[in-house]
Amino acid sequence: MISQIVKNDLKPLTLSIDHGTYTTEILEKLGKAGAFRHHIPSQNNGKLDLFGTISDMAVVSEECMSTGFMMWAQTVCAWYIENSDNEWLKTEILPKIVDGEFFGATSLSNPMKYFSGIEDLKLSAEETEDGYIINGTLPWVSNLLESSSKHFFGSIFKVHDKHGNPDRDAMALIPCNLEGLTMKQMVAFVGMEGTGTYSLIFDNAFLPKKYLLSDPVLPLLKKIKAGFILLQTGMAAGVIQGAINDMHKSNLTLSETNAFLDDSPEELQEELEDTLELIQDLCEEPFTQGDDYIKSVLEARLLGGELSKRSADSVMQHAGAKGYIVDSVAQRKQREAYFVVIVTPSIKHLRKEIARLEEAA
Ligand SMILES: Cc1cc2nc3c(=O)[nH]c(=O)nc-3n(C[C@H](O)[C@H](O)[C@H](O)COP(=O)(O)OP(=O)(O)OC[C@H]3O[C@@H](n4cnc5c(N)ncnc54)[C@H](O)[C@@H]3O)c2cc1C
Repeated sequence: MISQIVKNDLKPLTLSIDHGTYTTEILEKLGKAGAFRHHIPSQNNGKLDLFGTISDMAVVSEECMSTGFMMWAQTVCAWYIENSDNEWLKTEILPKIVDGEFFGATSLSNPMKYFSGIEDLKLSAEETEDGYIINGTLPWVSNLLESSSKHFFGSIFKVHDKHGNPDRDAMALIPCNLEGLTMKQMVAFVGMEGTGTYSLIFDNAFLPKKYLLSDPVLPLLKKIKAGFILLQTGMAAGVIQGAINDMHKSNLTLSETNAFLDDSPEELQEELEDTLELIQDLCEEPFTQGDDYIKSVLEARLLGGELSKRSADSVMQHAGAKGYIVDSVAQRKQREAYFVVIVTPSIKHLRKEIARLEEAA
């Protein structure tokens, strides 16, 4: 069913999405077909199948990784709610995100970098009796729509304690129509332009406590971290497969000279399949605690990033001059694959985290 949606509904829209059209049409269809359900036991007859969601994301990303990225945002947002203790979010919002009636996003790039000592947390809040008054700016958050009552994103902010205790970090779901929140599209992107990406400015934005996911954040963070990272491998697997498909097409006419290139489609295919086996194993127990498991998760995601980078390079070389034509598949794959390289956790961030864990061992 997911393949049918990709072929009949997504494929005709891929170029328009690449040129900047943001649409929820495909996400709605994917949700109805069950693509966001596999890893959410409360909406999946008690079954947790993280790899099922990754596999569907890969099928979508093989055609259009912008849509695959929005699928990641949607499914990781559902993952936050599912693993929280907030029953209101679980009954009122989660089923609609899983069904593709509401849209989910995540602004955890800055917090992920903050927890790795790369940058400071950009949002802070004063706690009141029944909520949080949030201030700060986030540069890029995707799968959003201005003032929408159907779009939500998971966010982490520093809470200044009114009783003089040390500051702590908390996590909440934030609706796009929150008063005091301004959304702006400040720049144009060379890829991923159709992903509904905004800068968010919080100016004394009051968030009621019913949206709280976890305060303090740490217990929830420990539960969601591996799933957050593993889910991204669906984008990587899809874009790599898409690049391999295009290399095979180029080889129909250029195989004699392409044989001298590094990273043939056959080699990349074999490495992709090995990596997917590893990811499938890691998906079995995504709540495993301890440095050994999380290091393996980071390494799997790193493999995805590195294979994406090699695919981006190879697909362009296999296509030759045709890859330089505007809207050619090869250069779109290249731009999409590079997003896997730079999106948090980026290759540099992953290597930093892995080095830290190795030092600590
Ligand atoms: C199209 C698009 C969509 C995105 N969507 C999302 C989304 O949905 N959610 C989300 O959370 N994020 C999103 N991001 C952000 C993304 O995940 C990355 O975090 C972002 O691209 C920057 O990460 P980086 O590792 O390159 O940071 P870096 O460029 O490495 O910077 C890390 C930090 O170090 C600081 N820094 C760098 N150099 C110096 C210096 N010399 N001195 C002091 N400080 C320095 C930077 O200002 C930054 O704060 C999106 C990005 C793009 C391009």
